[in-house]
Amino acid sequence: MPPAYPDRVNVSAPASAQELLDSLAGEVPRERVVTDPDVLESYSHDEAEWAPYALPLALVRAESAREVQAVVRACRARAIPVVARGAGTGLSGGANAVDGCVVVSLEAMTAIKTIDTLERLAVVEPGVVNDHLRAACAEQGLWYPPDPASSPWSTIGGNVATNAGGLCCVKYGVTRDYVLGLEVVTGTGELVQLGRRTAKGVAGYDLAGLMVGSEGTLGIVTEVTVKLRPLQAPQRTVAGYFDSIVDAGRAVRAVAEAGLTPSALELVDRTCLEAVDAWKNMGLSADADVLVLGRIDTPGTVGDDEAACMIRCFDGAGATWAAASTDEAEADALFAARRLAYPALERLGPVLTEDVCVPKRHVPEMLSRIEQIGRAHDTVIADIAHAGDGNLHPLLITPHDDEPARERAQAAFHDIISAALELGGTVTGEHGVGLLKMPGLRRELSPEVLAMHAAVKSALDPDHILNPGKMF
Ligand SMILES: Cc1cc2nc3c(=O)[nH]c(=O)nc-3n(C[C@H](O)[C@H](O)[C@H](O)COP(=O)(O)OP(=O)(O)OC[C@H]3O[C@@H](n4cnc5c(N)ncnc54)[C@H](O)[C@@H]3O)c2cc1C
Repeated sequence: MPPAYPDRVNVSAPASAQELLDSLAGEVPRERVVTDPDVLESYSHDEAEWAPYALPLALVRAESAREVQAVVRACRARAIPVVARGAGTGLSGGANAVDGCVVVSLEAMTAIKTIDTLERLAVVEPGVVNDHLRAACAEQGLWYPPDPASSPWSTIGGNVATNAGGLCCVKYGVTRDYVLGLEVVTGTGELVQLGRRTAKGVAGYDLAGLMVGSEGTLGIVTEVTVKLRPLQAPQRTVAGYFDSIVDAGRAVRAVAEAGLTPSALELVDRTCLEAVDAWKNMGLSADADVLVLGRIDTPGTVGDDEAACMIRCFDGAGATWAAASTDEAEADALFAARRLAYPALERLGPVLTEDVCVPKRHVPEMLSRIEQIGRAHDTVIADIAHAGDGNLHPLLITPHDDEPARERAQAAFHDIISAALELGGTVTGEHGVGLLKMPGLRRELSPEVLAMHAAVKSALDPDHILNPGKMF
């Protein structure tokens, strides 16, 4: 069986830290080029604790595009790999350091440069935290929809590089749908403007779109122009309890079959709710094995009808209880619990995170297969999902320091990917390929398409110094 991910992150990096520091003198202030091993260790990996990583040669805390350019040029001259990093909340090992690389942290580039209410767009530096942008837009009566569950921590640059999804994406789309333009430092150290600021524009290839989701392998994003919407209308919440994960999946499919477009449709199982409650003591009731949470933001009586229709979908699929929430605080607590599920589960042991996405009609079948795979490999699998998108996050949990359990979990990881591909799905709906999904990507894409990836990479990063050994 192929490994769940490559067992190496080494690419040759012959240069010394001192030589690099000398070359950067005058370009980046010395105090922002860090070589302290403890600090380097903390910047050497993201949240995907199963993915391999190495110690960087140095960390550069960039504060401008010019500094990023200087680092890329200095590294290119010395064949030193460069790994871009936002907040490090990634779940695929994409920001993990490769041996002897320079990690460029963009987290200090936090300026919100423009919020243009007439054009409904914002121009921001890459280190702006998602929630901070959303809050600043809200003050102007505007909304930046992409809302990964990591929105309190993850950066817009990281969101762009992973094409992050989130809870409201089932209705409002993912990061790519909101990126108008980008400023990027390429692998040759050029600073280029891609995309546009106009409502429409088809001048040349969509290179901004190409950068979105490229996981730091094609360029380092130093500025982002995103489009905005008017503030979202108030939402109604519908909750459904289910005794079986497959029934919960049927409810999700029924919502799509009914032609509803909810503004969120999430699934959380008992393991997740109990983990959040044990951590945050939120008084959550784990009255069922699976909770499905829907939201409707259609105003007026049409929205009331849609909420009623969603309840019927839940009941018809076998819900033990389904109702529209009359207590918005309670509904918000349930969504907050959904957002906290991943860090809560991490407290139970190492978590191997899947991110498969299947056609909506196959959600019940995929959930059933995940359950069977967990049993077959004697592995605890908790389920959270952006279920309305068919984007499922089975979370494989193992005890600490239990190598046989890790091997079983890796086998389960492999089988879940096989099942998703068999059902016409993809290995990653939103977290990106990074390291964890590289073997899966090679199963999903044909050799011809992988060759196209290699050609694009060589065109924009001819010396393959940007995040090498990742994605494909
Ligand atoms: C609790 C939790 C919940 C999550 N929920 C979701 C969710 O709902 N939806 C979702 O999509 N993801 C989710 N994630 C995953 C993660 O938050 C996203 O992938 C996020 O977009 C990563 O942003 P970051 O700033 O942390 O980037 P990092 O983890 O630092 O980097 C991610 C990737 O982007 C590259 N990168 C970062 N910044 C730049 C830049 N400026 N230029 C070029 N490349 C760059 C890195 O090299 C790496 O490949 C979740 C993670 C956690 C821990």
